[in-house]
Amino acid sequence: MIKSACPECDHDVLMETTPSVGDRVICSSCKTILVVLQSSPVLLDWAFIDPIEGAASNPEDKLNFGCVI
Ligand SMILES: [Zn+2]
Repeated sequence: MIKSACPECDHDVLMETTPSVGDRVICSSCKTILVVLQSSPVLLDWAFIDPIEGAASNPEDKLNFGCVI
């Protein structure tokens, strides 16, 4: 079992096998949709559909993007 910390709530996100870069996973704790940035070790980040410059500094924007998918 592979696990990596959720960037949103710091909960461990569990994956049965090593994910590929670009795979999307959902945090079981906060339901945030995350994307795999790196597979070994697994590094997760918010899954942005359409990143907007300057939005990264506003955590509320990240939450909104997570709900759009
Ligand atoms: Zn989470």
